[in-house]
Amino acid sequence: MRTKDKIYIKDLELIAYHGVLAEEKELGQKFLISLELNTSLRKSGLTDDLTKTVSYADICDDVEQLFLSKKNDLLEKCAEEIAELILKKNKTILEVKVKIKKPWAPVRKIIDYAAVEIIRKRHRVYISFGSNLGNKTENIAIALDKINKLSNTEIIKKSTIIETEPFGNVEQDMFLNGVVELETLMDSDELLESLLNIEAEMGRIREIKWGPRIIDLDILLYDDDVINEENLTVPHPWMNERMFVLEPLSEIAPNAVYPLNGKRIWELKKELEKKESQG
Ligand code: ATP
Ligand code: MG
Ligand code: MG
Repeated sequence: MRTKDKIYIKDLELIAYHGVLAEEKELGQKFLISLELNTSLRKSGLTDDLTKTVSYADICDDVEQLFLSKKNDLLEKCAEEIAELILKKNKTILEVKVKIKKPWAPVRKIIDYAAVEIIRKRHRVYISFGSNLGNKTENIAIALDKINKLSNTEIIKKSTIIETEPFGNVEQDMFLNGVVELETLMDSDELLESLLNIEAEMGRIREIKWGPRIIDLDILLYDDDVINEENLTVPHPWMNERMFVLEPLSEIAPNAVYPLNGKRIWELKKELEKKESQG
């Protein structure tokens, strides 16, 4: 559920051994860890029941245990590990801000502190999959299994798999297509890279544009982000013109919003049906 409620933990003080210098790993120094946890406090607020919220005592214990168990070079790494641990262990936390201060950082100057701050969150992503070479059903099953095994990624919903006519002008076999909904902690670039890796591992070779393929995995929607990078366009540029995308997507997420025009997926599908019936 969307919420602006927050739990704060400010300046948890720990002596630990992170740092690039050998002396830092040897002697240790003071770190101050602050957290902002975005989670709904409505239920615990109404019931006064600790089991309905996140216990900050438990969070402090978890962070302390993790932070003292290693000697990282960088604060960045420490912050990533803390954010990941918190989001993994507490499904009700939607977003976490982690700030780590190092007041005794050896910079040969007098400073109040050096610090890093990161914000990490759960992302909701829709991916379309398609296959028209070899054992298509098996290819799809393998690809989805590989997606589900990606780190910090889980398939939440899967559409019915439909058989569709090939797209474009290349003479080729019928496709099997569908869509999955994922929850992931990966950013969009990492996710794209992981999907392209899965395609490559499964033996996909790109010969002809829109030609036959063992597996195609495309990112349709990534939260409500609009992304225009050289190797990644989100929403997927053709999704609102492809019935083999809109049909399975509207089965599992009819009310998801297409961020370019604010329309819902069921509306896009209705519009495309109308367009196609008019030829
Ligand atoms: P189409 O994009 O028309 O569905 P395709 O899926 O066959 O065609 P691919 O050969 O699979 O195209 O991908 C070519 C490149 O598209 C990838 O290397 C990737 O960098 C880029 N790309 C851009 N946006 C996306 C996206 N949203 N999802 C997946 N790949 C994308
Ligand atoms: Mg594609
Ligand atoms: Mg593709």
